[in-house]
Amino acid sequence: MGASEGTKSKLALLGGAKAVTCDPGDMFTWPIVSEQHERAVLEVLRSGRMSGLDVTRQFEKRYAEMLGRKYALAGPNGTAAILDAMYGLAIGPGDEVICPSITYWASIVQAYVLGATPVFADVDPDTLCIDPQDFERRITPRTKAVVVVHYAGMPAEMDAIMEIAAGHKIKILEDCSHAHGALYKGKEVGTFGEVAAFSLMTGKSLPIGEGGILLTDDRRIYERALLYSHYARHDEITLDELKPFAGLPAGGFKHRMHQLSAAFGLVQLELFPAQMAEIDKAMNAFCDLLEGVPGIRPMRPDASTRSTKGGWYYPHFKYVPQELGGLSLSRFCAAVRAEGSVCNPGCNKPLHGHPLFTEMDVYGHGRPTRIAHLGDTARIEDYVQTLPVAERMMQRVFEVPWFKHDRRAIIAEHAAAYRKVVDNHAALLPDDSAGDADLGGYSSFFSANR
Ligand SMILES: *Cc1c(COP(=O)(O)O)cnc(C)c1O
Repeated sequence: MGASEGTKSKLALLGGAKAVTCDPGDMFTWPIVSEQHERAVLEVLRSGRMSGLDVTRQFEKRYAEMLGRKYALAGPNGTAAILDAMYGLAIGPGDEVICPSITYWASIVQAYVLGATPVFADVDPDTLCIDPQDFERRITPRTKAVVVVHYAGMPAEMDAIMEIAAGHKIKILEDCSHAHGALYKGKEVGTFGEVAAFSLMTGKSLPIGEGGILLTDDRRIYERALLYSHYARHDEITLDELKPFAGLPAGGFKHRMHQLSAAFGLVQLELFPAQMAEIDKAMNAFCDLLEGVPGIRPMRPDASTRSTKGGWYYPHFKYVPQELGGLSLSRFCAAVRAEGSVCNPGCNKPLHGHPLFTEMDVYGHGRPTRIAHLGDTARIEDYVQTLPVAERMMQRVFEVPWFKHDRRAIIAEHAAAYRKVVDNHAALLPDDSAGDADLGGYSSFFSANR
């Protein structure tokens, strides 16, 4: 080995030169804001129609057309869309709602508002999405619905999930907030369950500012959501069971979308397919460069199944420490970051262990909210869960760069950073004492990747 190769292979964490030297330019800039967006937003701003409904309705119409669903209802954020979807499904006191433990909190915490009880299911270690077998194991006579999260861009195993749900008469709410445009066996996520919800906030792969949207083919779900939190649209209510209550929001919420977001969103819907195609090319190129490298495994669907990751929000790889001498994930990631790339250990922390679900009395029922509506014999101990895969995943996955442009020279440098750390991992073992306790977090938005 020559002297120059020697310095090249010395890890940056140990004083060597960085592998990533290119200026990233706007590689990670998100959202991509053009003059077209500025014009659309200014038009609404100058007309003063921020609280109107005309632009929002156009946005809903295009979104529904894009997914081929009958009804779309836009709101202020994904959290609100999911609450509306839950009310739309008539989830109420005493109902159990199953949800994967690894997800962002807004997939499930809203169930508390409706008096329902969250029940967590374990995840599949290859997809980080709900494990269909564990979902089935969690079903009880109280189970009303399952929230299926297409996590970190990966479509969940819908064939198995839909078969189980149908067999037990359980409704499916798809949380597509991580997976705009993703396909499961050639069909778009958000078109499988009774109802789907998407976050459209600034960090997501279809960002419109702050916003969220609910989609369904079921008129009753749509009208219940309107009744609950969209009082200004109660003229759309047609069902006899709901009509007498029109006029006031049944839930006491106001979930109107800001029209600056709707205007921004209309432009985004036009540009999204091309942006998504570009991201898909870039991310697949990055994965291709790292396929077969010891210790790490790109996470993407098997292309032969016609499943895709769409916008690749919050992309992750698997970590296999036994192929790298047992190197801790924390130290591996620190070494890759020192090379100038993005590498964050863990993902969304499992929810099931948080005291919000094991002890907190949120509304003063005199017992944990989790069991507040289950009758006097319910015990919180019966709802405290152990989910081995979810609990292990913080040490088994890491976040990789989310490239917004297919620029191969930059992508190659980032892949080289990963290879360099893998090739020289032995140099990291001697001081690997920090360990992997407490990785991941409850929010992904503020990671260094955007
Ligand atoms: C972002 C997100 C939400 C909530 O959306 P907001 O627009 O932030 O309210 C819900 N579920 C998942 C999985 C998310 O990532």
